[in-house]
Amino acid sequence: MDISINDIMVLLKDYSDNDKKKIKKAYEFAALAHNGQYRCSGEPYITHPLHVAKIVAELMPDADTICAALLHDTIEDCNVTYEDLKHEFGETVANLVDGVSKMSAFKFLSKKEQDLKYTRKVIIGSTKDIRTIIIKIPDKLHNMSTMKFKPKDRQVANAFEALHIFAPMANSIGAYNWKNELEDLSFQILEPDIFKDLSDRRNLFYEQNSALIKEVSDKIKMLLESNDVPCEIKSRVKNIYSIYKKTNEGNDFASIQDLLSIKIIVDELLDCYSAVHYVHREYNPLGNTFKDYIAHPKVNKYRALHSTVMVKDNVPFQMQIKTPNMDLVDDLGLCAYWGIYGHNGYKKMQKDLNKDFPLYSKIERFNEQYENDEDFIYHLEAELSPYKTFVYNSSGEIIELPYGSNVENYLTVVGINVDDVDYCTVNGKRVSLKQLLKNDDLVFVKKKDQRLVLQKWVLHSFLFLIYF
Ligand code: MN
Repeated sequence: MDISINDIMVLLKDYSDNDKKKIKKAYEFAALAHNGQYRCSGEPYITHPLHVAKIVAELMPDADTICAALLHDTIEDCNVTYEDLKHEFGETVANLVDGVSKMSAFKFLSKKEQDLKYTRKVIIGSTKDIRTIIIKIPDKLHNMSTMKFKPKDRQVANAFEALHIFAPMANSIGAYNWKNELEDLSFQILEPDIFKDLSDRRNLFYEQNSALIKEVSDKIKMLLESNDVPCEIKSRVKNIYSIYKKTNEGNDFASIQDLLSIKIIVDELLDCYSAVHYVHREYNPLGNTFKDYIAHPKVNKYRALHSTVMVKDNVPFQMQIKTPNMDLVDDLGLCAYWGIYGHNGYKKMQKDLNKDFPLYSKIERFNEQYENDEDFIYHLEAELSPYKTFVYNSSGEIIELPYGSNVENYLTVVGINVDDVDYCTVNGKRVSLKQLLKNDDLVFVKKKDQRLVLQKWVLHSFLFLIYF
C-alpha cells in the first residue's frame, strides 16, 4: 500500500485527542467495511478513502469532515447503513457520507424523469452542506488519477463527467487547484494527442525560460527586501486545458501572456501595493494588464494584484502579488477557510457560499422558480457551464456573461437598448457590437445624447409632414 492512516495523522498534530481518536476509529471502521475489496489497480480498496481523506485533511478541516472522507464509500459499497454511521459517529458524519453517496449515484446528464427528480434532490442537499462537495471533488480527483486501470470506455465516460460536472463544481467554490487538476486529467484522456502536443510545448517553454525565471525571481526578491518588503516568490505555469481553450479562441501559443506567472507573496495587504510599485520601476508593464483584484475581487473571491511586465525583449511574465491568505483562497477558494479561520471555518464557508457565490444563490432561486424538474436541471446545466465571461462595466462592477458573448449580448444583459447606444469601447478602444468579450474586459457604453435623439425625431416628423 502506498498510503496509510499515519500519512493523515501526521497532518493532525494540533487536533485534540478526542478528534484524533474519532478519526482513527473512522479509519478502522472503513478498513473493516472494505475488507476483501480491491481497486482496479489491484490495491486494497481502503487506499482510495485514505487518499481522499488525505487531500481533505490537508485543508485542516473539522474532524467530522475527515471521518466522512474516510467513510465516504461505506454506504455505497459495503453493508453499512446511514443508521450505523449515525450511531457510531453522529448525525453530521452520517449526513455527509449520505450526501456524497447520493452524489455518486446521480446521473447528471440523464433526461429520465426519476433521475431528474433524484438529481434535483441531491443538488439541493449538497448546497445545504458544502462539505459534501469538498469530499466529493477529491473523491473524483483520486479516481481520475487512477483511471488508467479502467477500460477505455469507462475512462472516457468518467473524463467527460469530470470535465463537465466536477471541474466546474470545483471552480464554483473557487477551488482552482482542484479544477485545474481535474481538467488536465480528463483532457488527457479525451484528447491525448492535443494534450501531449501542448504539454510538450509548455514544458519546452518552461525549460527555455527556467534560467530567466530564476534570475527574475531572485532580482525581485532582492529588490523588495532591500526596500523592507519581505516576500516569497513562486512560479506557476498555466494548466494544459486552459492553454487549449486559449489556443482554441484563436490565440497563438506564444502570445498567451499568462502562460507563466510569478507569484509574489508578501506579508501585508499594503505591501502588495508597494511591491507592484517596485516591480513596475524595474520592469516595463504592458498597457492595460494591471488589475486590482483586491479592490474588485473576482466573483469566486480571488484577490491579488496582477500585472504583466516585460522581463526581456518579447518575454512577458505575469506578476501576481498577494498575501499568504489571499494565495490560499486563490488556490482553494472556500476550502481555504479552515486554514484561515480554524475548525469553525465551515460556518463562514457555508454563509459565504450562499451569499457570495452566484451559482449557489441561484440554485436556491431556481428551486423556488422552476417546479418542473427538467427546467430546473436545464437552468442549472447552463449555469454550471464553465465557460463564462466576467467583464467590468464603467463603474468597475463585475458583469457575468455567457461564454462567447459579444458587446451586443452585454447590452442585453445590462438592459441597454441598442438604439440608445452611440458607441461602445472595450479597454478604451472603440469596437463594433459584434466584438467578442474576454474575461476582465472593461466595457464602456456611450449612450446617445437624448436631446439629439429628440431633435432628430422632430426633424424627421417635420420632413414627414412636408412630404406627405
Ligand atoms: Mn470514492
